Amino acid sequence: MCDSDASYDGIFCFAVRSTGIFCRPSCSARTPKRENLRFFPDAASAAAAGFRACKRCQPERTPSAPPEWIGRLLRHLEERPAPPRAEDLCNAGIAPARARRWFRRYYGMSFRAFCEGHAMSKALDALQKGNSLDHTAAEAGFTSLSGFRDAFKRVFAQPPGAADDLECVRLRWVETPLGPMVAGASDAGVCQLSFLGESDIDAELRGLRDGLGCAVLPGRHPFLDQLQTELETYFAGQLQQFTLPLHQPGTAFQQAVWSALQAIPFGATCSYRDIATAVGRPGATRAVGTTNGRNRIAIVIPCHRVINAGGALGGYGGGLERKRWLLRHEAATASAAASAPAPSTAAAAP
Ligand SMILES: [Zn+2]
Repeated sequence: MCDSDASYDGIFCFAVRSTGIFCRPSCSARTPKRENLRFFPDAASAAAAGFRACKRCQPERTPSAPPEWIGRLLRHLEERPAPPRAEDLCNAGIAPARARRWFRRYYGMSFRAFCEGHAMSKALDALQKGNSLDHTAAEAGFTSLSGFRDAFKRVFAQPPGAADDLECVRLRWVETPLGPMVAGASDAGVCQLSFLGESDIDAELRGLRDGLGCAVLPGRHPFLDQLQTELETYFAGQLQQFTLPLHQPGTAFQQAVWSALQAIPFGATCSYRDIATAVGRPGATRAVGTTNGRNRIAIVIPCHRVINAGGALGGYGGGLERKRWLLRHEAATASAAASAPAPSTAAAAP
């Protein structure tokens, strides 16, 4: 552990064995000896290992939320899509090296690629709404039309004139009680929801791009707004059934397995063998396990509800701690809903 550094906040926690307390990396209260430290991917796993949260830096609050200056940067990008220059960052009190490091680790792309992707995502929206090429290029921060055309073609593999027919996945990073997740949606539906930290985000986004054959960019989409709302309601224990359109291409077998996962009732679990039987391939337990692992839309397609026939948790792309948490959360939500007094229609009766 070297200097306190807020740019690592949200990427890991450290715990001090001698005191039993865990902190954010930026905490100024502690300068422990290295051999005395343990590192955890998030506050939940540090707490699960028996450490208490530091009162000064409160690492358990909104686990892994991006630091405040990231929020400022994102708002800046919303208003002015052209990437800020290094001196703009310095003026805003943000060390460019720190921004670069954070974006690479948290967003799986360079700061520059993030800004350009964001600008191109807005440009595609503008063109599809019928805005002029000149205006759109200027809004995206280009001083020449040919520069814009080249950049557009690099991102979408098509010229701006083809904008109307272009498909694009928009990405958003969402905070949850289990840590940050990356969500993606195209006009066809939600196509990505996965935990950061457990998987290689680079590879994940590459897989999405190759699988759907279109550009994958940070940006906005109404399905992402809806997903965020439904996720918040889910984590608050007030939603059992997501209503979003989903878009996950796959073979007939994969589609059958993913549909079978969605049919597992909230609060319940079943085995890989149950799913194999449900899709009419009772011998295909192993293939079911593989297909389960290929699910890109965690939580909404509830692959966490499949456990081993013997009752052991089995595997989970988001890590077993999260799987355990989700199953407990759903069981508690379901039993609270079952014991709550039924919405009273009797009150209106005489
Ligand atoms: Zn602390």
